[in-house]
Formats: sequence, structure tokens, C-alpha cells
Amino acid sequence: MIEVSNLSKTYENGYEALKNVNFSVQKGELVCLLGPSGCGKSTLLNIISGLLDATSGDIKFDGQSVIGVAPEKRDIGFVFQNYALFPHMTAKENVMFPLTVGKGKISKKEARKNVQKYLKLTHIEDIAHKKPGQLSGGQQQRVAIARALVQQPKVLLMDEPLSNLDARLRLQIREEIRALVKEVGITTIFVTHDQEEALSIGDRIILLNEGIVQQADKGQNLYLNPANQFVANFIGNPVIDLFKMNWDGERLVNSTFNISEFQLNNINFEKDKSYCLGIRPENIQPNDSDFDFQAQIKDIELIGRDRILKFEIDEKQYRSLVKVENEINVGDTVKFKINMEKAFIFNDKGERLF
Ligand code: ADP
Ligand code: MG
Repeated sequence: MIEVSNLSKTYENGYEALKNVNFSVQKGELVCLLGPSGCGKSTLLNIISGLLDATSGDIKFDGQSVIGVAPEKRDIGFVFQNYALFPHMTAKENVMFPLTVGKGKISKKEARKNVQKYLKLTHIEDIAHKKPGQLSGGQQQRVAIARALVQQPKVLLMDEPLSNLDARLRLQIREEIRALVKEVGITTIFVTHDQEEALSIGDRIILLNEGIVQQADKGQNLYLNPANQFVANFIGNPVIDLFKMNWDGERLVNSTFNISEFQLNNINFEKDKSYCLGIRPENIQPNDSDFDFQAQIKDIELIGRDRILKFEIDEKQYRSLVKVENEINVGDTVKFKINMEKAFIFNDKGERLF
């Protein structure tokens, strides 16, 4: 449905915001465009919508290039972070608006029918007579979504639509959005900087950093099989533990443990070069009989049914994720075993070697 190829954007001041971006979105797919603040997400979304021109590259909708096609002719709905509702109109009038102007204009009867449908789908029938100033953030966001969908566009683009909502509402509305776009069947690109949000609602995630696509895949694959150190570090909560290691000729070592027993064949380590060992906290477990290192617990955090044991090595904090039944306390010295089968190894450029 959407095909982005070799897309680059250099702003007037010479800043390269996008560097040769390639990805595609299938019909009916909900793709999350994820990445830290400033990585180029809005730039990319604005180029897809036509609000901004690319410096080079192509975008196709259904096989047709849309480069040079005006935004209103691209058949897209756009939801902005700040909702951008008309303050003097009621919720219903806001949703109706796209059907009363320009190319989108349809008969009043048909317009009323469509508006009713989307008021219902977004659960705002009861507040349809109110103006944006009388609505909560979550209600305003639902109005903005209904307004974006009412013309039944081919593509829905949403730029950090939940970032102005409080945490609990964010969880609720993200589920509603996923249910809604799946019900409507619309091809959607949802921009967020929040990896948990992307993992929970995206069919697939396109992870961007510094204008470069780092990996485009299902969320679980980004977690289990990250393309590089950036991806491994960006995806996951608690975040991955990254240990700085050196190759001494036979083993990867740091001040506290080494991993000589590990099957390190097929990797050409260079002597005295530094590497990074990445282990997810669930793969570092207390084990009294068979252990790689010991460390004193500095702090313990409870998250739902799990506990995060925090310890330090070389003045850097690391984590072990254990079940809540675990009876370790702050101050205890604990023996830990690393599950090397689930480890990642990165070189000093952050490229994944293993
Ligand atoms: P994101 O949405 O991921 O936070 P943006 O796409 O808004 O990131 O911005 C990407 C980068 O491009 C940022 O470093 C930003 O400062 C820069 N940028 C955005 N707009 C302009 C502009 N008009 N001129 C120059 N640089 C810009
Ligand atoms: Mg942005």
C-alpha cells in the first residue's frame, strides 16, 4: 500500500534529517514509526502526507508515486499531537467539517450518516454537542481521530497522538486506536517515541535513529533478534544490560567475569579491542551453585509480578529480573549466572557480531 524508497531529507540549513529511508506498509497494516526525539519521525510523516517535500527518493501509494501530489489529494487522514481541533465548533461540527469543504464535500444527508458512524466508532456520541474547550484531552483526541477518518481515507497518519494524555488514559486510548483501525481496516502509520506503546499496538515497528532505519520488523523480533546495539538498547523494559568487555586473545573479559566457555567461534575478535556484551535482565539469574560473578544488591524495584535486582559493576548499574517470590534483599551479595545462549555481542561501532 505504502512504499517509501531511498527517501532523504536535508533541511535548508544543511541538516540531514532522513538518510536513504526504505520501508513499506501493507494494506490494513498498523505500523509504528518509533525512535527517540529528534530522529526524524515527524519529518518522515510530513513527507508522506505531502506537508513537506523530500530532497530525494520516492513514495508510492498503491504503486503510484505521490511525489508532487498535494496533501489534500493524497487521500490521507492526519492526527496531530495537539489535536488541532477548531475551538469554535462542537465536536460533531469538527468531525463534519472535512465533508463540507472542497473535494471532500458530499450531500448533507450522507455527511450526517458518516459523522454518526465515526462518532459511534470513537465513542463520542454523548459529547458530540460540546466544544473542544469543554472536553478532556482523551475526548479531544477521539474527536481528532473521528475527523481524520470521516472521509474514509486510504491511509491514516498519527503523529504522537497520545503524548499529551496521562499515563492511564494513554494505555486505554492506544487499545481503542488499535481496535478502531483494525475494525475500519485502514492502513496506518502511528508515530511514537515510546517503545512500549509501539510494542503493544504495532503489527510491525520501524525503528529510526538519526534519520536511518535501524530495523523494521515485528516487535518481538526487535526484542529477541536486534539488528544492532541501538535496537537492543532501545527496545525492552527494563532495558538491556550492556557490559563493556575486552578480548584478551582467548576470552571476553571485564573486571568481574569472563566468558571463555561461550561458543565464540566464527567471530574474529581483535586483541585489546573493546566489545559490548548485551544480556536482557531476565537472562541474569541468581544461582548459588553455578555462577559467573557475584555482586551486592544496591536497590530493588517492584514491577507487577517481577522484581528488578539492581547491582553495580565498575560503577555502572545493571539489573537482574526475577520473580516476585524471590527473597533477596538490598545489601545481600548474590551469585549470578548469565544465560550466554541469549547473549548478544556488539563491536565498538554497535554492530552485532553474535
Ligand atoms: P522527531 O519527530 O523524531 O522528534 P523531527 O522530524 O521533528 O524529529 O526532526 C528531526 C531533526 O530535524 C531534528 O534534529 C530537528 O531539529 C531537525 N529539524 C526539524 N525541522 C527542521 C527545520 N525546519 N530546519 C532544520 N532542521 C529541522
Ligand atoms: Mg515529532
